[in-house]
Amino acid sequence: MTDSGSGGISGQIPQVNIGPVQVSAFADMQQLLAFILHDDGTVYTGSAIAINPEKVLTAMRNPQIEAVINAADIRYADGIGVVKVMRNRLRSEVQRIPGCELWQQLMLRAASMQTPVFIVGATGVVSQQTAKKLQHQGVNLVGAVDGYFNDESKLIAQIKQSGARIVSVAMGSPKQELLIQRIREQHPECFYMGVGGSYDVFTGNVKRAPALWCKLNLEWAYRLLAQPSRIGRQLGLLRYVWWYWLGKI
Ligand code: UDP
Repeated sequence: MTDSGSGGISGQIPQVNIGPVQVSAFADMQQLLAFILHDDGTVYTGSAIAINPEKVLTAMRNPQIEAVINAADIRYADGIGVVKVMRNRLRSEVQRIPGCELWQQLMLRAASMQTPVFIVGATGVVSQQTAKKLQHQGVNLVGAVDGYFNDESKLIAQIKQSGARIVSVAMGSPKQELLIQRIREQHPECFYMGVGGSYDVFTGNVKRAPALWCKLNLEWAYRLLAQPSRIGRQLGLLRYVWWYWLGKI
C-alpha cells in the first residue's frame, strides 16, 4: 500500500454511520496500526480521531464539531457504546481501540521502523518527560513542543523542517483537531493524531483505570468514581443509549 491520503478508507474498511458520524470498523488495533504505518515504512498521510458516545452526542447538537470530526480521515471506535452499535450493525467482531493505547503502540511501531516522530501538547514538564521516555523506548523523536506555545507559524515551520512523518497532538478536543487541520493545510505529508491526555497518562501524571476495569468495559464507571463531577457527561451516555433504542443513531 502506498501513501493514500484523504479518502480511500471506505473501500478497504467497513463503515458504520452512528448519528452524523461515520466510523471505520477496524477489526482490531493491529489492523489500524498497519493501516497507519505500513510494513514498508511509509505512513498514511491523513489524520485520525477517536470516536466515543460523547463525541457522537456533541456532533449531533453542534454542526461545527460535526465538521471537525468529519474532517478527519480515520474515525476509529474508542468507546464501548460505539463498538456495540458497530457490532450490531455489521454482525461481526469489532474491537474497541482506546486512543491512548493506540498512540503508545504506534510509538513502538515507529521505533521499530525509525519513523521520525514529532510530539505537540501538554505542559512543558509533561512534554519533556514524554520526550525522554519515548527516546528511551528507541523512538526517533525529531521534535517536542508543549501545548502552550504562542507562535503557531513557528511551530508549523519546526514540524516541516524536522522531517517528521508522525505528529501527535495532545491539547484536548476540539483544540487539537483544529490545530491539526491548520498544520495539515501547510504540511500534508504526515500522519496526524489527536491524543487528548495521553502524554499525562504515559508519564504517570494521570492514572488510567486499572486493567481489569478496562477489560470489563467499566472504564467509564471508574472515571465516574474517581471524578464524580463527570456525572453530567455520564448522564449524556444514557441519552445515547436511549437514542440508539429509538433508532436515532
Ligand atoms: N493542553 C494543552 N494546551 C492547551 C490545553 C490543554 O497542551 O491549551 C493539554 C493539557 O496539558 C492536557 C491535555 O491537553 O495534557 C488535555 O487533555 P484532556 O484529558 O482534557 O483531553 P481529552 O482527552 O478530554 O480531550
